[in-house]
Amino acid sequence: MFFLILAPCSNSCYDNQMIPNTPIEKIFRLTPLQKNALSKLNISTAKDLLFHFPSRYSTISEIKNISDLKEGNDTIIYGKVISAKTAKAYRKKIPMTEAVIEDGTGKIKAVWFHQAYIAKKLPKESFVKLKGRVMSRNGEIYFANPELENTKEMPIDIADSLFQKNRQKEFFYPVYPESKGINSRWFAYSIQKVLTRQILDSIQDPISEQILKKYNLPTLKTALVWIHTPQKDSDAQAARKRFAFEEIFFIQLARQKIRKEYEKNPSFIINATQKTVSEFTERFPFELTDAQKHSIEQILSDFGKDKPMSRLLEGDVGSGKTAVAATTAYAVVKTNPVGQNFGNLQVAYMAPTEILAKQHFQSFIEYFKHMPINIGLITGKGCKKFPSKVNPEEATNISRTQLLKWIGNGEIPILIGTHALIQKSVEFEDLAYVIIDEQHRFGTKQRMELVRKDGRAPHLLSMTATPIPRTLALTIYGDLDLTLLDQMPSGRKPIITEIVLPTQRENVYKNIKKELEDGKQVYVICPRINEPDPNKALALNVKSVKAEAKRLQKDILPKYEVGILHSKMKPKEKEEVMQRFSDGETNILVATSVVEVGVNVPNATSIIIEGAERFGLAQLHQLRGRVLRSSDQAYCYCFADTKNDKTIERLNALKQAKDGFELSEIDLTLRGAGELSGKKQWGISDLGMEAIKNIKMVEAARTEAQKILEIDPELKNNMTTKERLSLQKTEVHFE
Ligand code: ADP
Ligand code: MG
Repeated sequence: MFFLILAPCSNSCYDNQMIPNTPIEKIFRLTPLQKNALSKLNISTAKDLLFHFPSRYSTISEIKNISDLKEGNDTIIYGKVISAKTAKAYRKKIPMTEAVIEDGTGKIKAVWFHQAYIAKKLPKESFVKLKGRVMSRNGEIYFANPELENTKEMPIDIADSLFQKNRQKEFFYPVYPESKGINSRWFAYSIQKVLTRQILDSIQDPISEQILKKYNLPTLKTALVWIHTPQKDSDAQAARKRFAFEEIFFIQLARQKIRKEYEKNPSFIINATQKTVSEFTERFPFELTDAQKHSIEQILSDFGKDKPMSRLLEGDVGSGKTAVAATTAYAVVKTNPVGQNFGNLQVAYMAPTEILAKQHFQSFIEYFKHMPINIGLITGKGCKKFPSKVNPEEATNISRTQLLKWIGNGEIPILIGTHALIQKSVEFEDLAYVIIDEQHRFGTKQRMELVRKDGRAPHLLSMTATPIPRTLALTIYGDLDLTLLDQMPSGRKPIITEIVLPTQRENVYKNIKKELEDGKQVYVICPRINEPDPNKALALNVKSVKAEAKRLQKDILPKYEVGILHSKMKPKEKEEVMQRFSDGETNILVATSVVEVGVNVPNATSIIIEGAERFGLAQLHQLRGRVLRSSDQAYCYCFADTKNDKTIERLNALKQAKDGFELSEIDLTLRGAGELSGKKQWGISDLGMEAIKNIKMVEAARTEAQKILEIDPELKNNMTTKERLSLQKTEVHFE
């Protein structure tokens, strides 16, 4: 029952033979603005419209009477325009529109800064809907820059006490993702027109009846009706659950199919046990953690099978992934190529940046220098080989041609590099193991390119320190087995983390000065690159990299060199800035969160995070990981400009949680699914993110996807499922 709003809509359904693919302009008369809005939302057919789901449901009680408004309300009002004019605001002389709106219970002022043209859209006596925040100035409340919609009339219950009681919960209408020119009301009305028996009957359900029954999910037809026109909350919930399941199920199917495809190729059998590799690990200057031992065991056991491994090693920064990579690489290079009793199988280790590739090259030299094993480095900047003929303790520069030759004939068994490593021109003699560090973009295509001419495919180990909840990992890495490195090497000093309120900043700067005087370095993270546009009223007042760098240099720490780093810089500039910081030429690095992945500057002992309340916990943890590399005590200062107890409590989890993975779980429960920006980061809709909150649902989707591929690998007996799958993007999209 959501047609409370009287809506004599001008749209009319003039095509009676509607099918799912009927273009939308054949069904409704659309203005150019509406056409534009629909195309922006990727809606072109009747079916697209049906699958444009409400982002939430609103009760009519969110609409307030003007007399009930209070400062700070985020609300909707309907009213009549009493007056509207352009004016200049305050001392700054900002042009603006000022209007007075009345709804029968009272009047309120509405102002639009920098939008003098809005006055023209507010003819006297016309009706409007305003949505926005109620502010106050000099004791008078007003709407500041509200969203404006001209309407034909007021909803019948506004300013009418008869309907007030009903407002509580009964009236319940869908709120859709909107675009300029088309609003939720249009969607609600139009979708109801399209929701006919005829069209519902012609859309096949891509999920089998059996699965739906098993998990008590509504059929597609029912779910479509329920999600758009729910009679009660539980209907809407059941429909959302079904579509959330469907989204995760198809991601799983797509990922698992890729894996099955890869596994069709035989791999290299490498017979090694923990015992075989102990001669290697015994030389380490430390004892392996149990988690490292367990991970090595799992990988070695995969190596023993006749199919390629596909495994993800997840471990916090500093948990010792490189040692696991090196040990398992050792098992590989100790193995002779197929049918030979000499020579080494080869390993490729891919890093996301040149700096990291160099760092890994150095670590691998440390791990392997006692052995007669050549190690190569390939980046955009050039190639190196260890050991040098002249000086066996050192690496030497070699030409790319020379390197490629030695890779091609197997003389260099271990090659480390950036993605230059898997280009076509790099031909390995016997590549048996590919290790990928923090390389999210390693897609299906690249993976398939690894398959050799003789049909053999190398084992694959992906490593990540990006803490994401387990349910999300199971989904987006549905094609990988997971190993968790959930234990830190002992004897690490935990980072001292402090949540700092604005009044305590000075103390922190005192500590920072002390660290700098000791020759240590500091990161300062800011939420944005530039100052907010002063022409945008209400622009968020958060610290920017550029302004903060200036301020620190000028007012706070004038004696020290400040570098800046942000995402708008060219990759080359970024590398240079990092290199200078890494070489100690700059003392302070002011950066956006781009500094997150894998950078290692052991001399940097402190990190300040400005606007910490604006970051997710997992992200804060990752940022904090930048100062973990040092053997000295490290400090993380989260500057939080908030009085909200909940926010402070959330930030305090940083002091308590065991690791990044625990924090990512806390993040998931504390924040709404909609706030997790799943679409942007992972290509998962807000609805799909609802499933991510539910381990049972994710496990069910994974199990069912596995099962169906087990029985019917080509989906020959599940044609509707197959069709739906063909629409599924095979690559999960990463940032
Ligand atoms: P990650 O890649 O997981 O962030 P690294 O492999 O770079 O971590 O290891 C971080 C540091 O910890 C390195 O200096 C490494 O030598 C050291 N390390 C690794 N494993 C252990 C261990 N079990 N005990 C002590 N130190 C370790
Ligand atoms: Mg690492």
